[in-house]
Amino acid sequence: MKIFDVEETLAQMTLEEKAQMCSGRDFWCTQDIERLGIPKVMMCDGPNGLRKQEGEADHLGINASIETVCYPTASAMASSFDADILRELGENLGEECQAENVAMLLGPGVNMKRSPLCGRNFEYFSEDPYLAGKLASAYIQGLQSKGVAACVKHFACNDQESFRLSGSSNLDERALHETYLPAFEMSVNEGKTRSIMNAYNAINGTFCAENKELLTEILRDDWGYQGFVVTDWGAVKDRVDGILAGCDLEMPGATEGKTESIVKAVESGRLPQEKLNQAVRNVLTFVHDALSQRQEGTVFDRKAALEKAAEMEAECAILLKNKDRILPLRRETKVAFIGEYAQEPRYQGSGSSHINVKHAISALEYVCGRNVTFAKGYESRKTQVDAALQEEAIQAAREADTAVIFAGLPDSFETEGADRETMSMPENQNALIAAVCAVQPNTVVVLHGGAPMEMPWLPIVKGVLLMYLGGAGVGKATAELLYGEKNPSGKLAETWPVKVSDNPSWLNFPGENGIVEYREGIFIGYRYYDKKEMAVNFSFGHGLSYTDFAYSDLTFDKTSVVDPETLTVSCKVRNTGKRAGKEAVQLYVGIPGSRVRRPIRELKAFAKVSLEAGEEKTVSFTLDRRAFAYYEPKIHDWFVENTDAVIEIGSSSRDIRLKASIPVTSDQTLPLRYTRYSTIADLLLTKKGTALFNQMFRRPKSEEELKAQAESDAAMGDGAEKMREKMMMEMPLNAFYSYGMMTEEQMLGLVESLNQE
Ligand code: BGC
Repeated sequence: MKIFDVEETLAQMTLEEKAQMCSGRDFWCTQDIERLGIPKVMMCDGPNGLRKQEGEADHLGINASIETVCYPTASAMASSFDADILRELGENLGEECQAENVAMLLGPGVNMKRSPLCGRNFEYFSEDPYLAGKLASAYIQGLQSKGVAACVKHFACNDQESFRLSGSSNLDERALHETYLPAFEMSVNEGKTRSIMNAYNAINGTFCAENKELLTEILRDDWGYQGFVVTDWGAVKDRVDGILAGCDLEMPGATEGKTESIVKAVESGRLPQEKLNQAVRNVLTFVHDALSQRQEGTVFDRKAALEKAAEMEAECAILLKNKDRILPLRRETKVAFIGEYAQEPRYQGSGSSHINVKHAISALEYVCGRNVTFAKGYESRKTQVDAALQEEAIQAAREADTAVIFAGLPDSFETEGADRETMSMPENQNALIAAVCAVQPNTVVVLHGGAPMEMPWLPIVKGVLLMYLGGAGVGKATAELLYGEKNPSGKLAETWPVKVSDNPSWLNFPGENGIVEYREGIFIGYRYYDKKEMAVNFSFGHGLSYTDFAYSDLTFDKTSVVDPETLTVSCKVRNTGKRAGKEAVQLYVGIPGSRVRRPIRELKAFAKVSLEAGEEKTVSFTLDRRAFAYYEPKIHDWFVENTDAVIEIGSSSRDIRLKASIPVTSDQTLPLRYTRYSTIADLLLTKKGTALFNQMFRRPKSEEELKAQAESDAAMGDGAEKMREKMMMEMPLNAFYSYGMMTEEQMLGLVESLNQE
């Protein structure tokens, strides 16, 4: 097929045709224009499987789609801490898209897990922007390597479902850039995503579909994005404002009057031709690239993909607790599988990501023929205790050596379109676990669900294996991990707090009257819990293994970092146990001497290392300036401070194994205008001020001055010197005048001279 040339075609298009091209043809396809040889191309949901609708279309997962493979959802995939697996997921999805003639997959979702109550958390990766960005980039690279565009979503601050279509996420500039944008930025710069989907919500009052700061100034001017922007389905409020802001394609198909409104806006001069041309050029480029990368005749092997999905899930599941090494189970042990999810696992979430799966393997089915009994224990669609089912489960537990309870969140507890009402599990499941533990001390809980749950029974169970929503191969992966055919290696990509009210967003989630204030700023997830020294059930990065790992030999490739140099950090990790395993090694950076409030530690690199029993490997990470920087609103940019960085290597954010400091020097300065209210400490922020400070306060003192100081210190007692220094540093320059050391004129002259170049 001859593929059209973008610029030539653009030049031949009528105003009307250009306007049409800015909206979809129907629910899932771009506009086709036969006269110009522009065919339609199709896009489908994502992100954890292909949801291709051939019949009636919808965006809430209601109508049927083709039968396909469901991979582990994002909360599970993120727990792999393994970019290679994400890349592989992308490649698999890309092949399937080619086989189904789908040009773009609507994913991945990289919104931040601000609250465990967000109904859509199962579709998002993490509470950590770096982890989310890294994993998303690998997914995008994998998908796009097969000639299928990724569409990273939902740009931005779409971190809850309440007020989904009309709400505004209000936050400060630092939190926006430091917490909520980096995963998108990495998807652009590292992942090279060809498309980005704007969110439904507004940010600080301006809807994302019409947000010029977001779609043009940040995305294109600052990050250099070259792809196209598509709206979330139905997110448009004013299509002309959208094009002016940098939103190229409206989905789904044009609703009445939108094309006309674009035509009229050009005719009236409200929308410059060039702006419209740019939007059309972006959409045409996408269609052109889709056609030129089309791999006709691709055959996709769904059976092999299901196997892959199970293998991936086995890399993602997290062993949260393993007291007395109750796991792995031995083949000869008499085990009671209890709970409906042993037979009917819950493995995906509801909404637009919902995949049509013919058969999901259950753990019970997989262990068929082993020494395992089964009792249903509860009805997943109900929340009240069913006495008969519970009694039967207690009996089964009593008769077995070990009970494995399959529990978690029912479908109705988490979905796109609505936030969770509670972090609790249903009452009947909590009661069942307590009742089983009362008769069976050897109890393990296997959890299914897309987000953290409160665990009132945690102290009384011996083991917890978290599968998240693990895709259609979840049952196989569960059984393999329980019986030790595979060794767990997943780590939490989000903190599991003790109770929902511990979460930093608790007082401001989901907001009021359509407005949600992100008052916790940059302190979400472990950044908050660590700073508050708060106990959590399971910390970010936590995950056990059936083997043990020892860390040693932390080294840097230099003795100090001069901004913007990179730093290479290395350490050794040894498998000290008796079986092969994988460890997700995590590197955190902290800047304890910072002038601004910063988290204790932030994840800046990670690597998943595979080690045979007894094997040792050296792991190396390269940190660039972002690893040391914070976002400084005064310069609307990233800022590196002149102070030591603490590098920590951990097996989790609360299990730090190695730690060392390194000085960082930077000559980045902040624009500063001194006033009479600037403090003496502020003098140290500029070269001129530092010189004055040294001259006034660090000059050698006369005998008389030293004597006076000693007398005053003696009168004040212990700690006087420290107190004096602190008081001095916080004094305003005005004090030179108010304490009679200078006239007002002299003091103002000094301030003025500090401001002169
Ligand atoms: C969701 C998107 C999805 C789109 C198409 C929207 O409601 O927010 O994530 O890709 O529908 O189904």
